[in-house]
Amino acid sequence: MKRSSVPLPWAKFNSFVGNHKNQVLVAYRPCPICGSLECKTILVFDDFQFFSDSVENPKRTEIREVQCQKCHAVYLNPCYTSTGFDILFAEAGQSYGSTQGRPKEQQGWLAKRGLLDEGSVFLDVGCYDGRFLDRLPNNIRKIGVDIDAPSITRGQERCGDNIELIHGAFETFQSPIEPDVISLFHVLEHLANPFEVLKHMRSISHHETKLVIEVPVLENGKTNDINGFLSVQHMTHFSMHSLGNLMKRAGWEILERQQMPDYNGHRILAKPIATSDDIIGDVADRIKVSEYFEHWHQNLAVVARKLESWPKTTRMVVWGGGMHSEFLYQVTPLFHQDHEREYVIVDSDPLKQGKTWRGLHIHSPEILGEIDWNDCLLVISSYGGQESIAQAAEKMHVPTTVIKLLYDSVRVY
Ligand SMILES: [Zn+2]
Repeated sequence: MKRSSVPLPWAKFNSFVGNHKNQVLVAYRPCPICGSLECKTILVFDDFQFFSDSVENPKRTEIREVQCQKCHAVYLNPCYTSTGFDILFAEAGQSYGSTQGRPKEQQGWLAKRGLLDEGSVFLDVGCYDGRFLDRLPNNIRKIGVDIDAPSITRGQERCGDNIELIHGAFETFQSPIEPDVISLFHVLEHLANPFEVLKHMRSISHHETKLVIEVPVLENGKTNDINGFLSVQHMTHFSMHSLGNLMKRAGWEILERQQMPDYNGHRILAKPIATSDDIIGDVADRIKVSEYFEHWHQNLAVVARKLESWPKTTRMVVWGGGMHSEFLYQVTPLFHQDHEREYVIVDSDPLKQGKTWRGLHIHSPEILGEIDWNDCLLVISSYGGQESIAQAAEKMHVPTTVIKLLYDSVRVY
């Protein structure tokens, strides 16, 4: 089907006026690990924009990553309020929660440790729509809790009586029974107050309850993705040591630690123990942060040199209207090279199409067939999706010479 020949709305960068910040989006907090009020800024973005332009909703906020002066933990401060999170992440769509979805391996790991034995009670915290619980054997009692009401409703409809799903806050929900196993797979790093959550888990547990937690850690945070390890989706950026401190303070003894071999996931198994306020920071965490920044900046320089080597065209199509493009603006020279250059964005996520990001119109990739590629490049703004997007563009007859990739290699994680 031939599309109508309405000319594409090429636009200059940052041509939308009206994006703004609001105090309601974020709130300051004590250190999520030790409770100290003393912290020091290690990274700041003044005007980070979350997805599409809006005059009605505040979509911009300051992103400030800090390090605790007492225990050296790294965390986002201020962090998002629940209202702020709802507004800022409303359009995250496919770009949120990309580290989920290894249920088969997780199930095998749990079974090997006797954590799925017949008759045991399994509680999944941050269960979304119950999809992980759904895959676990039916000879155990399966309970899930999540803060997202629509997910709980959808999951209960799909899973029926097989699974008990609870809608509630992780710090306060009531479990119908003391669980034998509690799992938090890639949940803790998203929470404003992980200490209260782990304390609550302990209060609903019996003395033999096992707690399984997996989070990404600083030690494994060296990636060539411009987004880096200090993801704006995470409220706490754990190190192995700060995770240990949090467990100790909340009354959990770590029995086993394991680094996942092929992605950034640090998995621990714990059981209840007496709480301890004897939290000692590891100065090595400060060195690790410096090493992390050194690595990140080296990679930013690699990307900057690469995009500076491309032909200087007067037009550019950017494939990707999400978080990665905001990082492209924040940490690379791409949108600063030529203030007269005109852009169009394409994105296959229908949630983003028809909107604008920093004044640039977002379309379906279908429009690529209408572009005159003389004096125009197609820049792929995605890390994990880089190769598949390049292939899709070639299928749509975009000349290979104008398709520009930011990364020489991509690590799956
Ligand atoms: Zn601290």
